Amino acid sequence: SPARSSVIIVGAGVSGVSAGKVLAENGVDDILILEASDRVGGRIRKEDFGGVSVELGAGWVAGVGGKESNPVWELARKSGLRTCYSDYSNARYNIYDRSGKIFPSGIAADSYKKAVESAIQKLRSQEANHESDISKLSEPPSTPKAPIELAIDFILHDFEMAEVEPISTFIDFGEQEFLVADERGYEHLLHKMAETFLLTSEGKIKDSRLKLNKVVRELQQSRNGVTVTTEDGCVFEANYVILSASIGVLQSDLISFRPPLPRWKTEAIGKCDVMVYTKIFLKFPYKFWPCGPEKEFFIYAHERRGYYTFWQHMENAYPGSNILVVTLTNGESKRVEAQSDQETLKEAMEVLRNMFGPDIPDATNILVPRWWNNRFQCGSYSNYPIYFNHQIVHNIKEPVGRIFFTGEHTSERFNGYVHGGYLAGIDTSKALLEEMRKEDRKSEGQTFLL
Ligand code: FAD
Repeated sequence: SPARSSVIIVGAGVSGVSAGKVLAENGVDDILILEASDRVGGRIRKEDFGGVSVELGAGWVAGVGGKESNPVWELARKSGLRTCYSDYSNARYNIYDRSGKIFPSGIAADSYKKAVESAIQKLRSQEANHESDISKLSEPPSTPKAPIELAIDFILHDFEMAEVEPISTFIDFGEQEFLVADERGYEHLLHKMAETFLLTSEGKIKDSRLKLNKVVRELQQSRNGVTVTTEDGCVFEANYVILSASIGVLQSDLISFRPPLPRWKTEAIGKCDVMVYTKIFLKFPYKFWPCGPEKEFFIYAHERRGYYTFWQHMENAYPGSNILVVTLTNGESKRVEAQSDQETLKEAMEVLRNMFGPDIPDATNILVPRWWNNRFQCGSYSNYPIYFNHQIVHNIKEPVGRIFFTGEHTSERFNGYVHGGYLAGIDTSKALLEEMRKEDRKSEGQTFLL
């Protein structure tokens, strides 16, 4: 029969790695980490593009400069990660229409103010009606709007909800955001963390307790333990499992549970929204966009909501890189994931020519991440609407027998963020250690009775 570990951790993203670290620090080191992909990092992932390192997943340390210190910011500082302050607040003054004209700042500011007021009003009325149907809350408004209003609505709902309702990350840790601009990538923090409890050689993790390319397909639990079966037919045994797969993966049928998960669990999992967030990178032979700190972010107002709306130039992070990033979300992300990168490039170029004129050069390279179609992710991050039933996140986090759930989606205060995943991993391991102690006491009691 297969060797038995104390704990199997499914997934080597930030939550799985921080969970492993806490277990190891508490003397539980006969662990096994099974990761479906060929790397450590999960939704923290860099890629070399156009001569620099770009972040396909998490890009910012969000929540800096407040009363409390963001633990991920601490890690970034300790390991000397290169970051760059991002000021989104100017984006609203760089709104282009289809003919390339920038909306006067007065008009932009007015539209912005109106949009914030109406969002607050909508929220209050939902609260008053005890609206708890999550799907309705995140729907974009149905009344037809002018392109500038649509653009602002998109920015407000998909990026800046903090202006409407306080977000724990910014309340606790501060309102600043820093873009990671380091050749080693955001994932460097994870490697540093993993090195504290996994063996490394020549800067690479070489520890038999970390197994890559192991896609977990079945978790079968009995009173005494859990049997884990992977896609390649391997079987592993453990006393406990920590499962860090994303909410999108839990909603898919990648992992089957025997016995099946109870209804309170599957219902809660089904109720959490999955956001898709796509950063498309475009490399150019030279710059044709305005530069400078107040120009880092700019907005394109189109009659279709979310159509190549939110742009960023990378000159602040990497001067001379000649790279633009455009962010799509949800429906637009899924649409673009389904088409060829060449089609996406064509669409993006048309939008850029509307903004900057017909003579700008073609992009020489494009990078389109596909988080939605990645079966180990099935989306970018969890999204609990601002006004929601707290029981849902409680039930998503609650263990089922010997299976403990972790990941950013289990963090009530910080879901959707790297620090959410990091803190969730710590919380889950602490809860599991407590359970293990209880079980030890029980079996000691039994020995005593014998
Ligand atoms: P993951 O990183 O998804 O780790 C789970 C791991 O489990 C993965 O490695 C996966 O491969 C593995 N896995 C899944 N299924 C199986 C299976 N069946 N068997 C074995 N292994 C499996 N956060 C910020 O703080 N700032 C940002 O700017 C930011 N921007 C983002 C932008 C994008 C495009 C995305 C996608 C995310 C962004 N986030 C951001 C969110 C942040 O990346 C996540 O909250 C965090 O990385 C999640 O960590 P996790 O450990 O919960 O999950």
